[in-house]
Amino acid sequence: MAGNFYKVQCPDCDNEQVVFGKAATEVACAVCGATLARPTGGDAEFEGEVIETVERRSASSRTESDETVEAQ
Ligand SMILES: [Zn+2]
Repeated sequence: MAGNFYKVQCPDCDNEQVVFGKAATEVACAVCGATLARPTGGDAEFEGEVIETVERRSASSRTESDETVEAQ
């Protein structure tokens, strides 16, 4: 499978940051510097909670956060 991006919530400061699923180096939180992901040789191991999968680079798009709920 192609590598996806994941939106990970920092366990320390709740910052939400998009991290490459196969990160080859440790990824640190841009706000507080906590480690969000560490490389394992395959899929990275995430330290924070993965709250969303981002299949492509669409950092400024938030269209999927307002999903229409089917009524009735
Ligand atoms: Zn943080």
